[in-house]
Amino acid sequence: MTNKEYWIEAVESSLDEHGLIATTEQVEKIADDMRINAEHQSMVFGSDVASENLSQSWKNEIDGLKKALRDEQEKVVCPICLGKGRVKHSCGTFFSESECFRCKGKGRVQR
Ligand SMILES: [Zn+2]
Repeated sequence: MTNKEYWIEAVESSLDEHGLIATTEQVEKIADDMRINAEHQSMVFGSDVASENLSQSWKNEIDGLKKALRDEQEKVVCPICLGKGRVKHSCGTFFSESECFRCKGKGRVQR
């Protein structure tokens, strides 16, 4: 098992345990973040970190990721610009384009 596979499995089992569904791509991205954060953590705290600190920061990490994932999953394609992030205005014979006022150019909005 590679380091990457380890984190993918960890993320998948955590999502599963908390009843969350993510795409393979999302799982891989979260796994990548977790792996990088774990590397940072061992640099910050050293390898002899107390197990309670570990589980607490792990919990915070999971909570933050769960919230980010939930926010992302609740978003829908912007009904104003249809996901393009920009809207066209006609002004006489001219057309101008500007950032969508509804999604602020992101193309996705909270439901
Ligand atoms: Zn929009």
